[in-house]
Amino acid sequence: MNLDSLGSFQRTHRNGQLRLEHVGQTVRLLGWCKRIRNLGSLVFLDLRDRWGLVQLVANETEVPPALLAKLKAVRGEFVLGAEGLVAEREQKNPNLPTGDIEVRLSDLLILNTAQTAPIPLDESAEANEDQRLKYRFLDLRRESLQRNLVLRSEVANLIRNYFRRNDFVEIETPILGKSTPEGARDYLVPSRVHQGQFYALPQSPQLYKQLLQVAGFERYIQICRCFRDEDLRADRQPEFTQVDVEMSFVRQEDIQAMMEPLLVELAALVGRTVQAPFPRLPYKDAMEWYGSDKPDTRCAVRIQDVTALFAHSEFNLFRAAADSQGQRRVRALFFRGEQAAAYSRKQLDELQDAAKHMGAGGLPYAKWGKDGLASSFKKFLDPAAEAALKAALGVEGEGLAVFAVGTSQQTSKVLGDIRLRLARALGLIDESRFEFLWVVDFPLLEWSEENSRYVACHHPFTGPHPDDLGLLETDPGACRAVAYDIILNGFELGGGSIRVHDAQTQSRLFRAIGLSEEEAREQFGFLLDALAFGAPPHGGIALGLDRLVMLLVGASNIREVIAFPKTAQARCLMTNAPSPVNPRLLKDLRIQIEQAQQWKAGVMFFESVPAEFQAPLTAMRTLTSGAASSTSTLVLDGEVVKVETTRLPGFDGQDG
Ligand code: ASP
Repeated sequence: MNLDSLGSFQRTHRNGQLRLEHVGQTVRLLGWCKRIRNLGSLVFLDLRDRWGLVQLVANETEVPPALLAKLKAVRGEFVLGAEGLVAEREQKNPNLPTGDIEVRLSDLLILNTAQTAPIPLDESAEANEDQRLKYRFLDLRRESLQRNLVLRSEVANLIRNYFRRNDFVEIETPILGKSTPEGARDYLVPSRVHQGQFYALPQSPQLYKQLLQVAGFERYIQICRCFRDEDLRADRQPEFTQVDVEMSFVRQEDIQAMMEPLLVELAALVGRTVQAPFPRLPYKDAMEWYGSDKPDTRCAVRIQDVTALFAHSEFNLFRAAADSQGQRRVRALFFRGEQAAAYSRKQLDELQDAAKHMGAGGLPYAKWGKDGLASSFKKFLDPAAEAALKAALGVEGEGLAVFAVGTSQQTSKVLGDIRLRLARALGLIDESRFEFLWVVDFPLLEWSEENSRYVACHHPFTGPHPDDLGLLETDPGACRAVAYDIILNGFELGGGSIRVHDAQTQSRLFRAIGLSEEEAREQFGFLLDALAFGAPPHGGIALGLDRLVMLLVGASNIREVIAFPKTAQARCLMTNAPSPVNPRLLKDLRIQIEQAQQWKAGVMFFESVPAEFQAPLTAMRTLTSGAASSTSTLVLDGEVVKVETTRLPGFDGQDG
């Protein structure tokens, strides 16, 4: 097809702009053909650009043959220029901003053709997400993604303007930095010039922003990219964007007071009204009441401790917890109301499965409905015990209680999750509300079984709570931090802390996490030096921009607010990154790729073959019977492992 050139064609209006007031004007428009259809002698074409959609119309019996021929050639997603007269529609479309008018086509440019899109481009149609990510440049034409990315840009602008008004400076920090062992795994970049040495991509600009405080930039902001090589979860990406903030001469309250009006403004951007100051909740209470350090407080139901009630119970499971001197506890959630009481056996079984998945033995319940008490441990609830339980849980009328037994940590995990499941199922979460919350007083350190030492809960530059400083050497796990997270509707939007600002405390903290003096100097010498040269008291916070935008637009998936996201396997399906590179580049870097390990021989003797080895054994038998290769699966430590067996050259199948 011969394409038209843009030539001197000038757009007069954006497609989404046209209204009744434009009737009678000849307009020139640009965009993509969203849809073209014939109704009798009329041809309708929806033309889309970034600002919206407008209907073009041509009457086959009236337009010149050349124009008609062109129009007939147009298919979905062709790129067009159009000229025409704006006219009032006979049949208006109230669902479309431009639905009062149409444009009567007088000229058409075909600027480019388009193959049939491999994915549906309208919102309603389901498409496989892998396909969408592969053709992301097409997927991004969808209205919701366009809206999300435009809002993301507005959010970033609002944030920059807010901090600018408050006298912050935006300073860029390096992308090529130093690898440090704390925190998540680093993405590494090999240095060609310094062979065998590596840069690390920043997990966050944490130390740079602190050093900028030492340098005197009292109010710092950066909207920056961060990288963490972690196993990904649904709402994580290997690279993500942070709104990074650091201030000098501040206390926790000053940081909170700086961030709250910003969050109020951001909520207003999407039409939500929220009131500052936001509630503050100590970490301990968050875990005790909601079983989570990022509670969704839109549901008011709290976890309650009912251990003591079962001190003399015949229900062994609960009594054993009561006898354990605080090691194990019985904790419960009570949801009042008919709907909760009407929770069916099947629904309870589903909850129980979820609880078991989290390591619980089961999910004991008691519900008070129309026919009185129904409970998985009813035979242990005589009238007195039932009355005591009702009084403790605050049961008046109908409702459902579920229980968990175990350590504080175990019961928090189970009930924290079940609380949200029940709240959602019972419609107790008002999705139109934004509930911000500060969780404060986090522990400073936690014991890591994996490393056999304490590790920082936040990062090792977080200041110990002044009242707990003495615990650093005596009981590190009990030491609180001056650290705070900002939560929105059960999501952690961000977190920060007041930092250590003197070299001596920093050295004590490094010691507490098992770094020797030499290691501390080697890894963080520049920080210790900086703290010794007049570092001001300082602190800050970082917000996750991706998650923030996700919550603002009401998306359920972080990929919906990132232009070119990666999959949960950290792969870009469009470019296919990561990919092998030219061996010459590797040679320059002196990097050799180790081949996947091949086991060349092995002998196994079994008196009887365990079930999990049956399949590989059968596979091996097919090899000895002459097949060149075979595959099978094997379950090892609960994981399904694919075993590929290949006949090696020279192997005659007789050796074992
Ligand atoms: N750098 C920290 C983080 O990325 C946030 C902070 O403490 O400011 O989690």
